[in-house]
Amino acid sequence: MTGCVISRILADQGFDVEVFERRDHVGGNCHDRCELNSYTHQYGPHLFHTSDRRVVDFLKNYSDFTPYFHKVTAIIDGAPLPVPFSLRTLQLTHPHSLAIRLSEKLIEAFGFGSQTTIYALLNSLDSDLKELGGYIYQSIFLGYSQKQWGVDDPLLLDKGVLNRVPVRISNNTNYFDDTYQMMPTYGYTQLFKNMLDHPRIALRLNKSIELTDVSIDCSASQMLIDASQYAHLFYCGMIDQFCDYTYGRLPYRSLHFESKKVATNHADRPTLQTNYPSNFDFTRIADYSHLSSVLGLKGHQESMVITEYPGEYDPSSLNFSQAFYPLFTSSARTLYLRYEEHVKPYRALVTICGRLGHYKYYDMDDACVAAISIAKRFLSSIV
Ligand code: UDP
Repeated sequence: MTGCVISRILADQGFDVEVFERRDHVGGNCHDRCELNSYTHQYGPHLFHTSDRRVVDFLKNYSDFTPYFHKVTAIIDGAPLPVPFSLRTLQLTHPHSLAIRLSEKLIEAFGFGSQTTIYALLNSLDSDLKELGGYIYQSIFLGYSQKQWGVDDPLLLDKGVLNRVPVRISNNTNYFDDTYQMMPTYGYTQLFKNMLDHPRIALRLNKSIELTDVSIDCSASQMLIDASQYAHLFYCGMIDQFCDYTYGRLPYRSLHFESKKVATNHADRPTLQTNYPSNFDFTRIADYSHLSSVLGLKGHQESMVITEYPGEYDPSSLNFSQAFYPLFTSSARTLYLRYEEHVKPYRALVTICGRLGHYKYYDMDDACVAAISIAKRFLSSIV
């Protein structure tokens, strides 16, 4: 997404842009495929949500969008429950009188219609709320996060990770609460194809920027860029790789996706996404047949279902050779900051960007905002 957005903005401003994409398709991890009367997201469910109107306005130049409010089911003690934990989940998991008492305490402490964090509950001075926090943590967060991040104690991760999933003091069972929640009507791939469809953009698929391609040599302390050929390079990959691992490898988490075609069954898979916090090696299963009706497509008797297994990123491994997430620990952050310092002297020539370049937990809207501001900064630097 980052590369596409930057490319389009610069092309619109009269720059010739050459896009190098190591995969055989555009759209990065947002890539999807139209099949079985739906869109299958090849790299995990991508749910666009934002409260930033500027992002919506920008993206709507390249696609129509259809409202979609994501819901997630978690299988907890064998039962399907709505996540994030809400007053609704409380009613489904606790005896009636206890659920009423806890609801009252939550409303008293945080206010009806609000949301809080798992940390606030775990640290609550009220013993009932603290205990409830312990229950939610054990049943929803602990096992899932251990698998996802490969850590024993997920509470040691940057708090921003678990805070992505709130505890709702309401009956709202939507996964997100942003103002704009929607899907590109003809899929993400088409959105990015449209964005890159510009006479000044040359797209080179199946072409990673092997160091020789753009004459970058970052193995030496000095980076060499063939400035006669390119005014600037925007690099959307891993920052440590770009710097030839000068300070050692940054940790990333990877995912392995197992796809299968199954008979459509919304009774067993009531939502697009089902999370499995405990018991299995995988974290979630996405059933893309749920998007058919959302996008106004006819249902199909078969569904594409993709199971997601997390693992440690290892470029030489069979299943985990692609980095999907930075690892949000303080030691990784410290190492990232060294790399960030390392590339500063080269910023007139190279901008490192994107989730892996900035080592941040960007959602699609964050990536889009960051890309727009990178493009604008570049444009203002050359006038
Ligand atoms: N998480 C969890 N249980 C869940 C859902 C999320 O423990 O049922 C935690 C987990 O650590 C996960 C993080 O919250 O990595 C962020 O969840 P999100 O759904 O935003 O993950 P993403 O879609 O970005 O992989």
